Amino acid sequence: MERLSAVPDSDKPRVLILGGTAEAAALARALVDGFSDQLDITTSLAGRTRAPTALPGRVRSGGFGGAAAMAVYLKEQQIAVLIDATHPFAAQISANAQAACETANVPRLVLSRPSWSPRPGDNWSYFDTIEAAAENLTGFGRRAFLTVGVQELKPFAALQNIWFLVRLIEQPTDPLPFFDCKIIAGRGPFSVEREQALMASHKIEVLVTKASGGNATAAKLAAARLLSLPVVLVRRPPAPAGPSVDGIPAVLDWILLSALDPMS
Ligand code: NAP
Repeated sequence: MERLSAVPDSDKPRVLILGGTAEAAALARALVDGFSDQLDITTSLAGRTRAPTALPGRVRSGGFGGAAAMAVYLKEQQIAVLIDATHPFAAQISANAQAACETANVPRLVLSRPSWSPRPGDNWSYFDTIEAAAENLTGFGRRAFLTVGVQELKPFAALQNIWFLVRLIEQPTDPLPFFDCKIIAGRGPFSVEREQALMASHKIEVLVTKASGGNATAAKLAAARLLSLPVVLVRRPPAPAGPSVDGIPAVLDWILLSALDPMS
């Protein structure tokens, strides 16, 4: 992983991607492949996973230390534009980015992820919070496939009458606080066939997920539909304020206008 010096060593306009998602990785790839002669590209990761997916361009890892410290970073590194391509549930970093970009006067664009919509045959129930989803889970089934991420497991751990199949990006370093569960590690995208076989072989009765949207993890919803299983979804937090687009071509257009247009 490349460490950024306090003073940038490139005279190309600097693009900072707030990442940690498949979309951010795809954006970094598109920028490095198409525009690395014109732009200097850095992806910022929170540093939560031990073995993050390899990324093209520069990579920095770890929190900035809050919005004010991110503003200092943006100025020191002479960031020309910031793309918030973080996960829809990563609300804190998005709020920090909004405040920091205002302070440092850096143009910001949100790469948003299309929401999931139910199709005929889907049996979806939405809850506003992880806690509410956990409190109501017993009404849906006693064998749950839990795909909410390692940071959101605690509310489910108190449910002694439910068996959990817990899927995480990587094996946890510490034991999980469940009475009875099986942990599997895996990074999407997954196929519908594989998801269906996984749920069927573990006799899953309910799927629990955040309403993250996008394609990378949508196969589990199709598998639940094919198996006629209920799905418990946690609603997304409000989308970050400010300009947003939902595809990489639109981000590229915006960057080229914002970072390379001499009149901007
Ligand atoms: P969060 O609650 O919004 O952010 C918490 C803190 O983590 C931030 O205040 C910031 O620390 C640091 N941080 C988060 N994302 C960062 C980034 N890209 N670069 C540098 N620092 C970052 O975030 P989260 O929900 O824990 O998600 C962490 C990361 O995992 C995000 O990058 C997100 O895209 C990715 N992710 C999240 C989920 C999810 O369900 N939440 C799912 C898949 C991937 P400081 O205040 O110290 O700057």
